[in-house]
Amino acid sequence: MNYDVIVIGSGPGGYVAAIRASQLGMKVAVVEKESLGGVCLNWGCIPTKALLKSAQVFNYMKHAADYGIKLEKSPEPDFQAMIKRSRDVAGGMSAGVNFLFKKNKIEVISGTGKVLSGKKVEVTDEKGGRTEYSASHIIIATGARSRELPNLKQDEIKVIGYRKAMSLGEQPKSMVVVGSGAIGSEFAYFYNSIGTEVTLVEYMPNIIPLEDEEISKQLARSFKKAGIKVMTDSTVEAVDTSGKGCKVTIKTRKGEEQIEADIVLSAVGITTNLEGIGLEEVGIKTDKGKIIVDDFYKTTVEGYYAIGDIVRGPALAHLASHEAITCVEKIAGKEVHPIDYTNIPACTYTLPEVASVGMTEKQAREAGYEIKVGKFPFSASGKASAAGNKDGFVKVIFDAKYGEWLGAHMIGDNVTEMIAEVVAARKLETTGEEIIKTIHPHPTMSEAIMEATAAAYDEVIHL
Ligand SMILES: Cc1cc2nc3c(=O)[nH]c(=O)nc-3n(C[C@H](O)[C@H](O)[C@H](O)COP(=O)(O)OP(=O)(O)OC[C@H]3O[C@@H](n4cnc5c(N)ncnc54)[C@H](O)[C@@H]3O)c2cc1C
Repeated sequence: MNYDVIVIGSGPGGYVAAIRASQLGMKVAVVEKESLGGVCLNWGCIPTKALLKSAQVFNYMKHAADYGIKLEKSPEPDFQAMIKRSRDVAGGMSAGVNFLFKKNKIEVISGTGKVLSGKKVEVTDEKGGRTEYSASHIIIATGARSRELPNLKQDEIKVIGYRKAMSLGEQPKSMVVVGSGAIGSEFAYFYNSIGTEVTLVEYMPNIIPLEDEEISKQLARSFKKAGIKVMTDSTVEAVDTSGKGCKVTIKTRKGEEQIEADIVLSAVGITTNLEGIGLEEVGIKTDKGKIIVDDFYKTTVEGYYAIGDIVRGPALAHLASHEAITCVEKIAGKEVHPIDYTNIPACTYTLPEVASVGMTEKQAREAGYEIKVGKFPFSASGKASAAGNKDGFVKVIFDAKYGEWLGAHMIGDNVTEMIAEVVAARKLETTGEEIIKTIHPHPTMSEAIMEATAAAYDEVIHL
C-alpha cells in the first residue's frame, strides 16, 4: 500500500479528514482537481461571507448619520473591488490549507480521482496521464455543485449559478434569484444592498423554508423593507434569454407574471459529484444521489468511506468536518460516538442574520411534545439598541415535561455567533432552568437567549 489513507476531494470534509488522519499517525494523500479547500473555501462559505461583509460595511456607511458620523460624500459600492476582495480572501484561505497540509506532511496529488477495486485510486492529471495509488482506507469527499433545473439551464452569462454570482465582471442592474435557501437569500441580500434591483422567487410558502415559520416571516419583512421583491408560492416557469436581458415567466397563485432582469441566479440547491468516480465499478451503493454510509461513514464496500455533501444530512461545512473527524478516528480505532444529526446548527448570513438548531415549533408539536415556547425581541435588548440593530428575536422551545431543549431559532445581528451556546447546552443536556441560572454578560446579544428561556418559564425580567 502507498498510503494508510487517500482522500478524494479537499473541501472541509476532505482536508479535515486528511489532517486528523495525519495527527493520528497515518500516511496520507489528498487527490484534488481544483484549488485546495473545496467549495467552502473557494466558492461557498468564505467568499460569500467576504461579499456580505462588504454589503454590511456599505449599509453602515449609508446609515453613518444615525451613528453621529458625517460623510463628505455618499458612499458608493465598487463592485469589482468587492469581488476582488472576496476572491483574495478565498485565495488566502486555500493557501492556508496548503500550509496545513505541508505542516502535517500530507501529500497533494493534483488531478481527478476515481476509486478502483482493490483499495486503489486512479488519478488522471491535467495532461491526461493516469497513475494508480493504493491505500488501506479510501475516503470519498467529492462534494457537490449547483443543481440545474431543466427550465433553468445555466449558461453562466445570463442564467448563472453561485460561482458566477460571486465572480461577475459587472454589477447587474437587476436580478431574479430563484430559490430562497441560505445561498439564494444571501445573494439576494448582497446584491440588493449594493443597489441591484432584486426579485427573490420561492416555490414554498415562506422564504428560508427550512427555518421556523416566524423566523422566515421576519426575514421576509426585513427583505421587503430593504427593497427586495419577495415572491413566495411562486415558480419560475421559463427564462427567455433571446433579447438583451432575461424575460422571466413566474407562476404565482394569482396567475402568471413576467419580470425582466439582467441576470437570473439559480439557487435551487445542489447536486452531488457522484459521476465518474468509479462507484459502480467498485460496487459502492448510492441512494437518491447520495452515497450510502453507516454511522461511521463506511460505504457498502469494506475499506471505502464517504463524508460531506455526498452523504445524507444537510450540506454544511461544519457537518462535513465533523463527519471527517468521526470517520478517521473510527478508522484509527478510537472510541467514537455517531454524530447527533438533531443537533447541527444552520446559519444564514443576511442582515438580519438567521441561526437555528433543533426542532421548529411546528416539528415539536407534530412530534407530539407538550412544549414551552419563549421569545425575546432584540428591541428589548440594550446591546441591540446601542448597536442600532433592533430587528429580530430569539425563540426557544423546551419540552414542558422534562425541560429538554428541543430547538432554538434566532434572527438578528450577530446571531450566527450565538447559536453555538445552544448547541453546546443541548449536547450537555442542559435544561431551561439551568440556562436561566447561567450568568450571561451584559450588555450582549446573548442575554436574549437567557431572557427567551426565562420567558418560556414565565420568569422574564426585561419584557
Ligand atoms: C454559495 C455557497 C455558500 C455556502 N455557505 C455555507 C456556509 O456559510 N456555511 C456552511 O456550513 N456551508 C456553506 N455552504 C456549503 C458548504 O460549502 C459545503 O457543505 C461544503 O463545502 C461541503 O464540503 P465537502 O468537503 O463535502 O465538499 P466540497 O467543499 O464540495 O469539496 C469537494 C472537493 O472535491 C473536489 N473533487 C470533486 N470530485 C473530484 C475528483 N473526482 N477528483 C478530485 N477532486 C475532486 C472538488 O474540486 C472540491 O474541491 C455553502 C455552499 C455554497 C455553494
